[in-house]
Amino acid sequence: MQYDLVIKNGNILDGTGNPHYLADVAIQNGKIAKIAKDIKGGKQIIDATGLTVTPGFIDSHSHADNAVLDYPDLIEKVEQGITTSIGGQCGTSVAPFIEKNVVSCRATMGAFLDTMKYVPIGSNLAMLIGHGSLRKAVIGTENRAPTFPELHKMKKLLEDGLNHGAFGMSLGLFYAPGCYAELPELIELAKVVAKHHGIVAAHIRNENSKLIPAVKEFITIIRESGARGVLSHHKVTKEENWGKVSHSLHLIDEANRNGCEIYCDVYPYNASSTRLSSAFIHKNYLSLGKEGIIRALSDPNERRTITKHAIERHGEDLNWVMVTNCKSHPEFEGKRIPEIAELWNKSQYDALFDLVIDTNLMCDGCFFTIREDDIEAVLAHPRTMICTDASVAKNLNVYHPRLRGSFPRVLGRYVRERQITSLPKMIRKMTSLPATVYGLKKKGLLLEGFDADICIFDADKIIDQATFTDCKAKAKDLNYVLINGHIVAKDAEYTGVKAGQFLRTTE
Ligand SMILES: [Zn+2]
Repeated sequence: MQYDLVIKNGNILDGTGNPHYLADVAIQNGKIAKIAKDIKGGKQIIDATGLTVTPGFIDSHSHADNAVLDYPDLIEKVEQGITTSIGGQCGTSVAPFIEKNVVSCRATMGAFLDTMKYVPIGSNLAMLIGHGSLRKAVIGTENRAPTFPELHKMKKLLEDGLNHGAFGMSLGLFYAPGCYAELPELIELAKVVAKHHGIVAAHIRNENSKLIPAVKEFITIIRESGARGVLSHHKVTKEENWGKVSHSLHLIDEANRNGCEIYCDVYPYNASSTRLSSAFIHKNYLSLGKEGIIRALSDPNERRTITKHAIERHGEDLNWVMVTNCKSHPEFEGKRIPEIAELWNKSQYDALFDLVIDTNLMCDGCFFTIREDDIEAVLAHPRTMICTDASVAKNLNVYHPRLRGSFPRVLGRYVRERQITSLPKMIRKMTSLPATVYGLKKKGLLLEGFDADICIFDADKIIDQATFTDCKAKAKDLNYVLINGHIVAKDAEYTGVKAGQFLRTTE
């Protein structure tokens, strides 16, 4: 038998969490055809002597759909070993999205997935439907509960997406307009997901002083709806709250003992990242939309009120905020807010809000507020999966290094150096666990008949190299990444082969 490709002599970690064994892996027609010793024949051979062979990594929380229409290669995912991403997170998905007077494939998730069916992309992508996107499509950004007909319409849109192969719904209860939703609305929608055995993934309402009530709210949604849940990018921010994740993880364990099915995911960095406007402008103003927010920030009285709210939440000193993507002020990318304030000779909050105005709300930041011990506690938890929480770099110059390094960093820093768990157990968290949680068929295990999504690396050396000051540096000692049997990255360098596709529950 002449196989398409044979990986020779690798240490096989099959994704189950079991210890490694030595074998060859034969690939035929994009599938794993055989795993055995001394497989003969192969049009192409990869010598994996001394290397570890695992299923491709699954990014449990990705915003890869944000830019996939413009940047379908998903290069940064592929180059760190990610062969499948779960997109549409934090309440925002590429569809449904309704533009005035424009007929677009993004009007419903079903139309979008049907359109993308034959479009090759760099890495596989499975979609959740954003609750914020449902809300925007039906009631805009208004700060109110939906009427009964509106809720019915949201449920229909959600149901349509699930029927067309979406894997669940994401909540962004921190962001507008998701933050305007209360429990009855969220439970009603989650029940639709439960009917389809899907996942409800949540960026919960609060990840600092009100972490525990926010986790309890999420558990209530899961318990009352019967859906399965993923607590997204679990962490607690701000020094005064550090340590609270031991309580939140305990609550998750307790909920699981009581019949819920809840998991979480995490990215391995001490800084979070989002839009400055989302983090610093009170939710009462976010419903005004872009123009309304800019008008409010430009009015001295309104600016004073917005600043007062922000200081109450975040304090006076913003040295923990580093500006990243900032198109109209690229000279400030990589700088902290106090430095920018000094250069502009303004107060820190005036500098921050002026950046928000100048960029039309499109300025991002990294926020250094997470403790290392808390990252390790979440990473080590048996129900935790690994994620990037990132889109793609597009034409950005400065971005959070998680986009480049999350998976190699977990393997190098947290498994090899810090030994928070064993390599086989961590590989399971990156592969078969998310495949099972999201219901990704034929993914996440090295098993005959499964898709040939595979990573090959040196377990003694693999490490991330991207940092907050050099975000573009590629991972080290990640030798090969394969998707559907094609070599898509060699030495963390994208080969240009788009071997991925949109995944659907219906296929
Ligand atoms: Zn989020």
